[in-house]
Amino acid sequence: MCEFCTKHGEGKKWYLEAKNYSDDLLSDLRRQKFIKEFFANFLDGFPKMLKDLERFEAAPGAIKWLAKWYLKRKFKREHHGQVVPREDIEKILDMMSTVVRIPCVCRRITRGEDKSYCVGTILSPDSIGIGGLVDESFWAGPDSSGLETIGREEAKSLIADFEKESLCHTVWTFQSPFIGGICNCDRSDCMALIGAVTYSVPVLYKAEYVAEVDWEKCNGCRACMHLCQFGAIGFSATAKKIFIDPRRCFGCGICRARCKPEAIILADRQTHPIAARSWV
Ligand code: SF4
Ligand code: SF4
Repeated sequence: MCEFCTKHGEGKKWYLEAKNYSDDLLSDLRRQKFIKEFFANFLDGFPKMLKDLERFEAAPGAIKWLAKWYLKRKFKREHHGQVVPREDIEKILDMMSTVVRIPCVCRRITRGEDKSYCVGTILSPDSIGIGGLVDESFWAGPDSSGLETIGREEAKSLIADFEKESLCHTVWTFQSPFIGGICNCDRSDCMALIGAVTYSVPVLYKAEYVAEVDWEKCNGCRACMHLCQFGAIGFSATAKKIFIDPRRCFGCGICRARCKPEAIILADRQTHPIAARSWV
């Protein structure tokens, strides 16, 4: 279990605890102010942050270490994500009264598109969710219909479609431990994935799982290899099988979804001898 499970999970996975999506947390005025400012500043703020990160990369080691230490504390407090495989996303959706499709703000920056790749989660039917705190005009765009309420089963089928597109499912906090929604991320467009993988910024935590491959079943077709957003899959030229680096694997399950002989499973990260020490 990750540190958030220990702090906010009461013995189970923290993102499966209904209270972490509750209106009780969302009604906190400081949190509401944070959410409003987050979206108001996102379009300008995140590209600027990536430029700052590029500068940090060239900085001396001590400055880089200090910057990452500071960012880790900040993100843990304010806005961090965790990778969650499809079966656990479905359990989250089962807890919700309302699910809302939201245009992806990252893709708005990188692609200039308003595609609804994100999902706002609302526990109580009376709640407005994070989407309702932001001016309606923010969500409207040429490729989306703003905040679109969908049924739970429709949301599950959407998540399954995103998995087929090899998108990585993540949950996101707005002042921890409140979870406001689910994103379906692509390394080329997601600010968090770019930050986490390219710049090692501790904003995205690995899943409670890690992928393992069964060499008895793997036929070496390599269909899974190019799908991994985290560069965790290699190919053994000698054995003619793939191998998975447990230090790099984020446990998203995208490779598993594409493996016809079902050679890949998601194992418990906590009990894995190497992956258990690798959460960001
Ligand atoms: S898709 Fe499955 S069978 Fe093909 S290389 Fe990957 S693990 Fe092996
Ligand atoms: S190896 Fe599989 S489960 Fe691990 S990060 Fe890559 S695609 Fe996801």
